[in-house]
Amino acid sequence: MLSDACGSAEHVPALLDRFGDDPSGVWSELMDHLCPQLDQAFSASYAALPRLAELASGCAPDDRVWVLQAAGAIMACAHTGDDVFKVYADSIADLHRLTDQCLGEIRDRYVYLLQSLLSFEGVEVWDRCLEGLLTGEYEVACPSCGVNVFIVIGEGGCFSASDDYASRQVERVALLPVGTGELDGLGERLQERTRADGQMALAGGLPYLFGRAVCPDCRTHFSVADQLARNWMPM
Ligand SMILES: [Zn+2]
Repeated sequence: MLSDACGSAEHVPALLDRFGDDPSGVWSELMDHLCPQLDQAFSASYAALPRLAELASGCAPDDRVWVLQAAGAIMACAHTGDDVFKVYADSIADLHRLTDQCLGEIRDRYVYLLQSLLSFEGVEVWDRCLEGLLTGEYEVACPSCGVNVFIVIGEGGCFSASDDYASRQVERVALLPVGTGELDGLGERLQERTRADGQMALAGGLPYLFGRAVCPDCRTHFSVADQLARNWMPM
Protein backbone atom coordinates (compact mmCIF):
# COMPACT_ATOMS: atom_id res chain seq x y z
CA MET A 1 0.00 0.00 0.00
CA LEU A 2 1.39 3.36 -0.99
CA SER A 3 1.37 6.19 1.48
CA ASP A 4 1.97 9.93 1.37
CA ALA A 5 2.32 12.65 4.01
CA CYS A 6 -1.37 12.36 4.89
CA GLY A 7 -1.52 8.56 5.12
CA SER A 8 -3.26 6.56 2.42
CA ALA A 9 -2.30 7.64 -1.08
CA GLU A 10 -5.57 6.67 -2.75
CA HIS A 11 -6.28 10.27 -3.74
CA VAL A 12 -2.85 10.84 -5.35
CA PRO A 13 -3.76 9.77 -8.94
CA ALA A 14 -6.63 12.29 -9.00
CA LEU A 15 -4.36 14.94 -7.47
CA LEU A 16 -1.77 14.27 -10.20
CA ASP A 17 -4.47 14.69 -12.85
CA ARG A 18 -5.35 18.10 -11.42
CA PHE A 19 -1.65 18.98 -11.21
CA GLY A 20 -1.29 18.14 -14.90
CA ASP A 21 -4.12 20.56 -15.74
CA ASP A 22 -2.72 23.42 -13.65
CA PRO A 23 0.86 22.76 -12.48
CA SER A 24 1.65 26.13 -10.87
CA GLY A 25 -1.80 26.33 -9.22
CA VAL A 26 -1.77 22.85 -7.72
CA TRP A 27 1.99 22.74 -6.94
CA SER A 28 1.66 23.58 -3.23
CA GLU A 29 -1.10 21.05 -2.64
CA LEU A 30 0.84 18.33 -4.46
CA MET A 31 3.99 19.07 -2.47
CA ASP A 32 2.03 19.03 0.82
CA HIS A 33 1.18 15.41 0.01
CA LEU A 34 4.27 14.13 -1.78
CA CYS A 35 7.14 16.26 -0.50
CA PRO A 36 6.24 18.44 2.51
CA GLN A 37 8.77 21.24 3.23
CA LEU A 38 10.55 19.84 0.15
CA ASP A 39 12.53 17.58 2.44
CA GLN A 40 10.57 14.38 2.89
CA ALA A 41 9.33 11.85 0.33
CA PHE A 42 7.07 8.81 0.70
CA SER A 43 6.39 5.60 -1.25
CA ALA A 44 3.62 7.39 -3.17
CA SER A 45 6.02 10.22 -4.03
CA TYR A 46 8.46 7.93 -5.84
CA ALA A 47 5.58 5.95 -7.37
CA ALA A 48 4.39 9.24 -8.91
CA LEU A 49 7.60 9.66 -10.94
CA PRO A 50 6.37 7.79 -14.06
CA ARG A 51 3.20 9.91 -14.13
CA LEU A 52 5.23 13.11 -13.58
CA ALA A 53 7.53 12.14 -16.48
CA GLU A 54 4.46 11.61 -18.65
CA LEU A 55 2.96 14.96 -17.64
CA ALA A 56 6.27 16.75 -18.23
CA SER A 57 6.64 15.41 -21.75
CA GLY A 58 3.14 16.53 -22.67
CA CYS A 59 3.04 20.13 -21.45
CA ALA A 60 4.33 23.56 -22.49
CA PRO A 61 7.73 24.76 -21.16
CA ASP A 62 6.21 27.20 -18.62
CA ASP A 63 4.13 24.38 -17.09
CA ARG A 64 6.87 21.82 -17.53
CA VAL A 65 9.16 23.69 -15.13
CA TRP A 66 6.71 23.03 -12.27
CA VAL A 67 6.30 19.36 -13.12
CA LEU A 68 10.06 18.80 -13.37
CA GLN A 69 10.60 20.72 -10.17
CA ALA A 70 8.07 18.53 -8.34
CA ALA A 71 9.87 15.40 -9.52
CA GLY A 72 13.23 16.99 -8.68
CA ALA A 73 12.16 17.84 -5.14
CA ILE A 74 11.08 14.22 -4.61
CA MET A 75 14.37 12.85 -5.97
CA ALA A 76 16.35 15.29 -3.83
CA CYS A 77 14.99 13.30 -0.86
CA ALA A 78 16.56 10.07 -2.18
CA HIS A 79 20.16 9.27 -1.33
CA THR A 80 22.84 7.97 -3.68
CA GLY A 81 22.43 4.22 -4.09
CA ASP A 82 18.78 4.12 -2.99
CA ASP A 83 16.63 1.52 -4.80
CA VAL A 84 14.41 4.21 -6.30
CA PHE A 85 17.19 5.07 -8.77
CA LYS A 86 16.94 1.51 -10.12
CA VAL A 87 13.20 0.96 -9.77
CA TYR A 88 12.31 4.20 -11.59
CA ALA A 89 15.41 4.40 -13.81
CA ASP A 90 13.45 4.86 -17.07
CA SER A 91 11.28 7.67 -15.68
CA ILE A 92 14.28 9.37 -14.08
CA ALA A 93 16.15 9.22 -17.41
CA ASP A 94 13.15 10.83 -19.16
CA LEU A 95 12.88 13.51 -16.46
CA HIS A 96 16.61 14.21 -16.74
CA ARG A 97 16.45 14.58 -20.53
CA LEU A 98 13.41 16.91 -20.34
CA THR A 99 15.09 19.00 -17.64
CA ASP A 100 18.27 19.25 -19.68
CA GLN A 101 16.23 20.60 -22.64
CA CYS A 102 14.08 22.87 -20.53
CA LEU A 103 17.07 24.61 -18.91
CA GLY A 104 17.97 26.26 -22.22
CA GLU A 105 14.39 27.46 -22.77
CA ILE A 106 13.43 29.20 -19.55
CA ARG A 107 14.48 32.29 -17.57
CA ASP A 108 12.38 32.02 -14.41
CA ARG A 109 13.00 29.29 -11.85
CA TYR A 110 16.24 28.35 -13.60
CA VAL A 111 18.19 27.57 -10.45
CA TYR A 112 15.45 25.28 -9.13
CA LEU A 113 15.45 23.40 -12.41
CA LEU A 114 19.23 23.10 -12.32
CA GLN A 115 18.87 21.55 -8.84
CA SER A 116 16.32 19.12 -10.29
CA LEU A 117 18.81 18.09 -12.98
CA LEU A 118 21.34 17.28 -10.25
CA SER A 119 18.78 15.42 -8.14
CA PHE A 120 17.97 13.10 -11.08
CA GLU A 121 21.71 12.34 -11.28
CA GLY A 122 21.88 11.51 -7.57
CA VAL A 123 24.12 14.51 -6.77
CA GLU A 124 23.67 15.29 -3.08
CA VAL A 125 23.88 18.67 -1.33
CA TRP A 126 23.96 20.79 -4.51
CA ASP A 127 20.53 19.55 -5.57
CA ARG A 128 19.22 21.59 -2.63
CA CYS A 129 21.60 24.38 -1.85
CA LEU A 130 22.43 26.01 -5.19
CA GLU A 131 19.32 28.13 -4.71
CA GLY A 132 21.16 30.04 -1.96
CA LEU A 133 22.80 31.91 -4.83
CA LEU A 134 19.39 33.46 -5.52
CA THR A 135 18.96 34.86 -2.04
CA GLY A 136 22.71 35.53 -1.94
CA GLU A 137 23.19 34.17 1.56
CA TYR A 138 24.34 30.97 3.21
CA GLU A 139 24.90 30.20 6.85
CA VAL A 140 27.58 27.71 7.90
CA ALA A 141 29.44 26.84 11.08
CA CYS A 142 33.15 27.72 11.27
CA PRO A 143 35.00 24.36 11.24
CA SER A 144 37.41 25.62 13.88
CA CYS A 145 35.52 27.69 16.47
CA GLY A 146 31.96 26.67 15.55
CA VAL A 147 30.57 30.20 15.36
CA ASN A 148 27.79 30.77 12.82
CA VAL A 149 29.17 32.47 9.74
CA PHE A 150 27.05 34.20 7.11
CA ILE A 151 28.44 33.72 3.61
CA VAL A 152 27.15 36.49 1.37
CA ILE A 153 27.50 36.17 -2.40
CA GLY A 154 25.61 39.02 -3.98
CA GLU A 155 25.51 42.31 -5.80
CA GLY A 156 26.34 44.13 -2.57
CA GLY A 157 29.59 42.21 -2.21
CA CYS A 158 31.00 38.78 -1.45
CA PHE A 159 32.05 38.45 2.17
CA SER A 160 31.70 36.54 5.42
CA ALA A 161 30.34 38.02 8.64
CA SER A 162 29.73 36.41 12.01
CA ASP A 163 26.75 38.45 13.04
CA ASP A 164 23.67 40.06 11.58
CA TYR A 165 25.44 42.11 8.92
CA ALA A 166 22.20 43.48 7.45
CA SER A 167 21.05 45.44 10.48
CA ARG A 168 24.31 46.03 12.33
CA GLN A 169 27.78 47.34 11.62
CA VAL A 170 29.89 44.21 11.79
CA GLU A 171 33.15 43.25 10.21
CA ARG A 172 32.88 41.94 6.66
CA VAL A 173 35.75 39.74 5.50
CA ALA A 174 36.14 39.35 1.73
CA LEU A 175 35.60 35.85 0.34
CA LEU A 176 38.47 34.25 -1.58
CA PRO A 177 37.07 33.03 -4.92
CA VAL A 178 38.55 30.24 -7.01
CA GLY A 179 40.73 31.81 -9.73
CA THR A 180 39.67 32.04 -13.37
CA GLY A 181 39.87 28.63 -15.00
CA GLU A 182 40.55 26.91 -11.67
CA LEU A 183 37.09 25.52 -10.98
CA ASP A 184 37.01 21.77 -11.41
CA GLY A 185 34.59 18.89 -11.06
CA LEU A 186 31.00 19.88 -10.40
CA GLY A 187 31.88 23.57 -10.00
CA GLU A 188 33.40 23.68 -13.47
CA ARG A 189 30.48 21.83 -14.99
CA LEU A 190 27.94 24.13 -13.34
CA GLN A 191 29.84 27.19 -14.53
CA GLU A 192 29.93 25.94 -18.12
CA ARG A 193 26.26 25.09 -17.99
CA THR A 194 25.05 28.38 -16.47
CA ARG A 195 27.18 30.39 -18.93
CA ALA A 196 25.84 28.42 -21.89
CA ASP A 197 22.29 29.13 -20.69
CA GLY A 198 23.02 32.85 -20.26
CA GLN A 199 22.67 32.74 -16.45
CA MET A 200 25.61 35.07 -15.85
CA ALA A 201 24.70 36.09 -12.29
CA LEU A 202 24.69 32.44 -11.19
CA ALA A 203 27.88 31.72 -13.16
CA GLY A 204 29.55 34.67 -11.42
CA GLY A 205 28.64 33.37 -7.95
CA LEU A 206 30.11 29.90 -8.43
CA PRO A 207 33.81 30.84 -7.92
CA TYR A 208 32.81 32.17 -4.48
CA LEU A 209 30.58 29.22 -3.63
CA PHE A 210 33.43 26.83 -4.47
CA GLY A 211 36.06 29.16 -3.04
CA ARG A 212 37.25 29.88 0.50
CA ALA A 213 36.06 32.04 3.37
CA VAL A 214 37.75 33.40 6.47
CA CYS A 215 36.04 33.09 9.85
CA PRO A 216 35.57 36.66 11.14
CA ASP A 217 36.05 35.44 14.72
CA CYS A 218 39.02 33.03 14.70
CA ARG A 219 40.46 33.81 11.23
CA THR A 220 40.44 30.17 10.13
CA HIS A 221 40.34 29.79 6.33
CA PHE A 222 37.89 27.16 5.12
CA SER A 223 36.22 25.83 1.97
CA VAL A 224 32.69 27.21 1.66
CA ALA A 225 31.53 24.15 -0.31
CA ASP A 226 32.95 21.70 2.24
CA GLN A 227 31.24 23.46 5.13
CA LEU A 228 27.95 23.58 3.22
CA ALA A 229 28.22 19.87 2.51
CA ARG A 230 28.82 19.21 6.20
CA ASN A 231 25.77 21.27 7.17
CA TRP A 232 23.61 19.61 4.52
CA MET A 233 24.42 15.98 5.28
CA PRO A 234 21.36 13.75 5.13
CA MET A 235 19.76 13.42 8.55
ZN1 LIG B 1 36.02 30.46 13.63
